[in-house]
Amino acid sequence: MSTATQNIVVNKVEKSKIDQVDFSNLAFGSIFSDHMLVCNFKNGEWQAPTIEPYAPIQLDPAAKIFHYGQSIFEGMKAYKDEKGSTLLFRPKDNWIRLNKSAERMVIPEIPEAIFMDGLTKLLDVDGDWIPTNEGSSLYIRPFMFASGNGFHASPADEYKFVICTAPSGAYFSGKVKVLIEEKYARAANGGVGYAKAGGNYAAQFYPTQLAIDRGYNQVIWTDDNTHEYIEEAGAMNIFVRIGDTLLTSPTSDRILDGITRKSIIQIAKDAGIEVKERKVTVAEVVAAAKSGDLKEMFGAGTAAVISPIAGFGYKNEDFDLPELENPYAAQLKKTITDIQTNKSEDPYGWRF
Ligand code: PMP
Repeated sequence: MSTATQNIVVNKVEKSKIDQVDFSNLAFGSIFSDHMLVCNFKNGEWQAPTIEPYAPIQLDPAAKIFHYGQSIFEGMKAYKDEKGSTLLFRPKDNWIRLNKSAERMVIPEIPEAIFMDGLTKLLDVDGDWIPTNEGSSLYIRPFMFASGNGFHASPADEYKFVICTAPSGAYFSGKVKVLIEEKYARAANGGVGYAKAGGNYAAQFYPTQLAIDRGYNQVIWTDDNTHEYIEEAGAMNIFVRIGDTLLTSPTSDRILDGITRKSIIQIAKDAGIEVKERKVTVAEVVAAAKSGDLKEMFGAGTAAVISPIAGFGYKNEDFDLPELENPYAAQLKKTITDIQTNKSEDPYGWRF
């Protein structure tokens, strides 16, 4: 622990809410731990972070977050191993990506010490909130937003960096059916698709609701220009298995550089699976579904881990994926979660 961590002031709750939580029956991200880390940016610099009781944040009605959506976030998970040690997965990558998003949204970058030491200290204080039952974890939400005010459409001069945590179960319940999008787009060239900007998610809600109304859980985004290429899903990168080859779209301006995605690519290659990062056309996926060569589709992300896709819709036609005996999705999920939860060696040095 660095000195910065030791110096973080902690104002503890008078009484913990933990007794009210049923850890055997957790939804995703809807119950919040006792404390949050708060750090303010003003007068041109980040101030000392503090740990406070989880509580509403008071903001000026003219705060720019409300008007111009200057807001970014990250998603991570903490696990506990059998010995009770707290584990994170590649946390520095989340810090780096948060700052990439910050640059794009003209939010001041957060120093590594505040992010890493703040997170470590928060998990220290709320360690009892990390679930231990299989499939559950403590979801961590670091975020930054414009708290400075003004109706002028320009970056704010004050910001807040906050980390909240939520003991969580699975992101999806039941089978996942997706709709391949042919009209709307999530992101465009030169846009903010590669950033975890709040507005990227708000913009997905309407097309996603249309898909939900038609009986799907999620939209698979296609490129904004031609809608011919598969890009990613709402909060997951997408993998497609045609024959024995695993395909995933390369990341770009429009696609989030998922930490699960890049880990899965590495794990799959090391397991001897042929992986190709290349553009995947909707046409080849539909043709493979028709010929029987389409073996699997799955989403990969921190919240969703690896979520197998049971079927997809495209242009008023539905396609079912076969139920395989030993799918790549299950093998890869086991390898990554065993590394995350310290049930296996971590040859990559990803566990923290
Ligand atoms: N794409 C989008 C749009 C996402 O929001 C996420 C979740 N962060 C992902 C992909 C997966 O990224 P990661 O594996 O880093 O969670």
